[in-house]
Amino acid sequence: MSDLTGKVAVVTGGTRGIGFATAAALAEAGATVVVTGRDRETAEKRAAELGERVSGVALDVTDSAAVKDVFKNIAKEHGRIDVLVASAGILEGGLIGMLTDEHIATTLATNVAGTITCVQAAARAMMRKRSGSIVLLGSIVGERGNAGQTVYAASKAALVATAKSAAKELGKQGIRVNAVAPGVIQTDLISEQSDEVLERVKETTALRRLGTPEEVAKVIRFLASDDASFVTGQVLGIDGGLVL
Ligand code: NDP
Repeated sequence: MSDLTGKVAVVTGGTRGIGFATAAALAEAGATVVVTGRDRETAEKRAAELGERVSGVALDVTDSAAVKDVFKNIAKEHGRIDVLVASAGILEGGLIGMLTDEHIATTLATNVAGTITCVQAAARAMMRKRSGSIVLLGSIVGERGNAGQTVYAASKAALVATAKSAAKELGKQGIRVNAVAPGVIQTDLISEQSDEVLERVKETTALRRLGTPEEVAKVIRFLASDDASFVTGQVLGIDGGLVL
């Protein structure tokens, strides 16, 4: 297992799904972890489930002033930020004809602007130490597109460009930026997908099953760690062969 002893990690969207599993994996590897979610009580409760080195903080990533404050406070309290896993994200909307202005605005504000603001805030703290690792949550649909997910797919494609651009810009300061592109992972995010759709996904996945949050978390942990010290600007697929 990659060693993260002594590192300080922030996991946005760490209250559920992939973010929660990632917080657990990072803590298991020795990191001090701060998980964030929109509700303070939930964030604190979920953090407490992961042990002493994990704490929970309220943060709505669409509130850019709050993002700045929260990251500043974390860096002050823990002395540094070594790792950011930007897992906060939503899947809303549907077919193009049914999309409302609100679906479009909320998805882009959360998945794109919210992620970029967190990258900016984390990078500020990382620059002081001239090291850090940032992992963004892309998706296979960011590359392939998906009928019924136009806005979501566009938001995930934007994160690929974000990871590559930030990697180029921040590399000279010792900061690596990568993205993962999960396939279909069993979390709340896909709870509205019908059994029929999920069966079709399984049939077209080489491994013939959906992924688990823990399987994504282990790959993120590798990218977050020094084991990936020469890996930056990459998009790593975790999809069981769905895109083959
Ligand atoms: P979940 O729905 O299980 O969890 C989403 C997390 O994001 C929750 O912790 C939620 O916290 C948080 N969140 C949502 N909106 C905000 C906001 N405005 N501010 C702060 N936190 C917010 O989703 P997953 O774990 O499945 O997804 C995590 C990431 O992985 C997302 O970016 C998603 O797009 C991506 N992904 C997921 C795939 C899948 O199949 N599950 C596939 C590919 C990518 P709370 O509700 O407590 O505020």
